[in-house]
Amino acid sequence: MRIFDPHIHMTSRTTDDYEAMYAAGVRAVVEPAFWLGQPRTSPASFFDYFDALLGWEPFRAAQYGIAHHCTIALNPKEANDPRCTPVLDELPRYLVKDGVVAVGEIGYDSMTPAEDHALAAQLQLAAEHGLPAMVHTPHRDKLTGLRRTIDVVRESALAPDRVLLDHLNETTVREAKDSGAWLGFSVYPDTKMDEDRMVAVLDEYGPEKVLVNSAADWGKSDPLKTRKVADAMLKAGFDEDAVDLVLWRNPVAFYGLSGRLDLDLTAPGALHEGNSILRGGE
Ligand SMILES: [Zn+2]
Repeated sequence: MRIFDPHIHMTSRTTDDYEAMYAAGVRAVVEPAFWLGQPRTSPASFFDYFDALLGWEPFRAAQYGIAHHCTIALNPKEANDPRCTPVLDELPRYLVKDGVVAVGEIGYDSMTPAEDHALAAQLQLAAEHGLPAMVHTPHRDKLTGLRRTIDVVRESALAPDRVLLDHLNETTVREAKDSGAWLGFSVYPDTKMDEDRMVAVLDEYGPEKVLVNSAADWGKSDPLKTRKVADAMLKAGFDEDAVDLVLWRNPVAFYGLSGRLDLDLTAPGALHEGNSILRGGE
């Protein structure tokens, strides 16, 4: 079984996770830029983070046989902080880089005017750079947030079929599907979707344009949730082709819209800019 986790924050995970993910079948990941759990205090903090998503983290993933790409953006939460918003002006120099396969995660957190501005501006950047957009839908007031998100997408220069609406659930899947966007589901241990609810959604709405992710980060989460959904699908009677569609071909197709997805891991070097993953090693 081959698995592509289209939304996982590996920067906050360990090498044990990489090993376990590889053993479970994960061969590719996309790591969206997000907030750090505490506020950043300047744009420079974003730049070091973006550089790590483009350099060190793909190097680390490659040591474990996993292809790593990222999405770059000002995240919805920090779109409200005037100390951070100048990063919007610097995004173009990152969006031209090879490892960037979408603009994201963008979208709404508290649905403020500042978030309206950042979302519209970044959809425009995606259109200008020929990139798809990975859009986070809010965790509170989900349906209102989804509708407002779809309205902003419709008003943008980016076609809905170049947009992934993420963190969907039973209350938002119908309208998200009708919008023509790709459908993302984050499967967490306690909240959001679990494996069985995910299988029920797939039963009702079909596997077309559906992507399943673990969204694993430094919070309580499980980087093997993708595999657990695949196993639950098989147990529920889906065939291997449907599993491969959801867990591999759909994310490849969506991020492939960037024209930059490169899943060939040609023997990674042991050093990244002179540094290895071996503490105190050569
Ligand atoms: Zn995320």
